[in-house]
Formats: sequence, structure tokens, C-alpha cells
Amino acid sequence: MNQPVPRPDASAADLLAWYDRHRRVLPWRAGPGERADPYRVWASEIMLQQTTVTAVKPYFERFMARFPTVAALAAAASEEVMQAWAGLGYYSRARNLHACAQAVMADHGGRFPETEEGLRSLPGIGAYTAGAVAAIAFDRPAAAVDGNVERVMTRLFAIEDLLPGARPLVRERVLALMPQDRPGDFAQALMDLGATICTPRNPACGLCPWREPCLARIAGTQESFPRKAAKKAGLTRYGAAFVLLREDGAVLLRTRPPKGLLGGMAEVPTSEWSAGYELDGAAQDAPVVTRWRQLSPPVRHVFTHFPLELTVFTATAPAGMQAPQGMRFTPAARLSEEPFSSVMLKVIERAGIRTVAGA
Ligand code: SF4
Repeated sequence: MNQPVPRPDASAADLLAWYDRHRRVLPWRAGPGERADPYRVWASEIMLQQTTVTAVKPYFERFMARFPTVAALAAAASEEVMQAWAGLGYYSRARNLHACAQAVMADHGGRFPETEEGLRSLPGIGAYTAGAVAAIAFDRPAAAVDGNVERVMTRLFAIEDLLPGARPLVRERVLALMPQDRPGDFAQALMDLGATICTPRNPACGLCPWREPCLARIAGTQESFPRKAAKKAGLTRYGAAFVLLREDGAVLLRTRPPKGLLGGMAEVPTSEWSAGYELDGAAQDAPVVTRWRQLSPPVRHVFTHFPLELTVFTATAPAGMQAPQGMRFTPAARLSEEPFSSVMLKVIERAGIRTVAGA
């Protein structure tokens, strides 16, 4: 009679053997056996938060060409950093990136700390980024748990607990599997597995190095993991945006306050953005009294916590007009230098004005 074959345990060796054959080539990633550059690893991890690899690649290359070292980034003007970031969204990350580079120069002699704890003391570096940089750049046995890793681990071990509460357990599982000799490669292998094989829909279990020990695959419940607490969708906010075009082609702009949503970015004047905003009173929010023309349909944009609907109004102003206090007229030829957010680019394009900034 055949003896039942015990199910093998998941091992780092199986994952690393797969990684050695299938690792993704990424602009910030060191080649096999090479030492990673902590600056490039850190910058890429900040850019990849909430943004896809495909979207980040071209930005990363441009960013590195413009700021090739942490010293160059620290010494840059904040507008220059914002402009290089424009289009990646989540601008608080760009501000923190700049502040972090300055802290590395001022407090750490231009070298990134090598431990998770040291890294976490820097601006904008949370648990995930500290783990990723410590593991990838310094080969420390640190867990970097992002959405990809959560998905792989909750499937592999059929973790029923709801996220985000299950995160400490996921982290524990990662650390238990992590090999002492190649922690950096292990962290990247997990990321690659989540991104290319153990995808949210239709995971390619047949190609997975952990297909045999994977409990979710055995049960056929892969896509039901990770389990998540239900999320409340934010209410749609509404507002008005005013595009004032001077006869010489200059556009009226202002800079958002440094803190908060889209902080430090350039924008045309707008009303407040709120769920109860009444378009009937929009004229009172306009920067100047003139004949405003309402465009339709409104511009729609989805932020992490809420969708936004901005109704665009346009008007023209005489060539000699001065900007109201706290605002500026930017000539058409210099619009591409303004750090516009994606939503503002949509507003400006809706008004028929061309700019090549951002994406
Ligand atoms: S076997 Fe399938 S579900 Fe399990 S870890 Fe691999 S790809 Fe993910």
C-alpha cells in the first residue's frame, strides 16, 4: 500500500532558486552578486509606494539623471524636486524624500543608516521602506511587508485573520522563512513572486516555486486571500477651478500650502473641495471679478481617500493685468516648469491650454 507523501514545507531555497532564474531586471536593482546602491534602493521604494513599477521606471531614470546622488538631491531647491516628481502623485512623499536626503547629509555624513531602526528615524521612512532598504541595500534579515508580500504569505499559509490586523503575523512568517545568507535576495524574490506569479487575479500557481506547500492552492481558495476588513469609500468632493488666461498667454497660478494634500504643488485658483460644495456660489470663490465661462463636463480625479469633481471656469484678462496677492502669472512658455499635479494638468488641459509637465 502507498504511504501518504508528507506535504513539503515552504523553503527559502526553493524561492531563491526560482528567483535566480526569473528575477526581474529593474533600473534600481543591482545585478546578480552586485552590491545595491542604498540611494537608488531607497528612492525607488519611495516612488513605488502606491505606484506601479511600469509607471515608476521612466520617472526613476529621469530622477536619477537629475539627482545622481543623495548629496545632489539634498542640495536641490524644493521646487526642482517637486517638478521632477510631478505626475507621480502623493506629493508628501516628494517632500519627505527631499527632507530625508537632507537628514542623511546633515546627520549621517551622507551615508544611509544600515539598520531598520536607524532608517526609521529618517523622514518618510516607515516600517515597510526601512525593512526593504535594510534587506536589499545592506543584506540585513529584515521583513518588508507590502501588498504583494501580504498576498503571497496569506495564501501560502492560508491566514484567515483580516488585514491590516494580520500584518504582524505575516511579518513573523516572513522572518521565519528568511535565510541568513541572502536576506536581500529573499526580500526581492518575495516581491517578484507577488508581482509576477502570485497576482491578485488568476495566480500562476503552476509556475510557483511554492505550489506544493501552498495551503490556499491546495484548497483552491487562492483568490479569497488576503482577507480584508471592509473599507469605507470616501464621499465625493466637489469644487470649482478658475483658469484665467492673460492676453499674452500667461496663466494665473498659485502654490498650495507646503503641508497637506498636494502640498507645495502649483495650481490654478480653486474653491474649497467639499462634499457639500454649491456650484451656484462659485463666482464668490473666483480670484477676480470678470465674465467666467463654465466648461463641461467637470474634471474627475480619484485620490486615495476620496473622489474629486472639479468644474472648470475660464476667462481672459488684459495683457497688463497684475496677479492678485499670493498669485502669479506664468508665461505659456514656462508652464512646463511648474510642478503641476495630475489633477491640475487635467484642469488646465480641459481649458484648452497645453503643457508638457508631468503625466
Ligand atoms: S501556489 Fe499560487 S497562491 Fe500559492 S503562493 Fe504560489 S502563486 Fe500564490
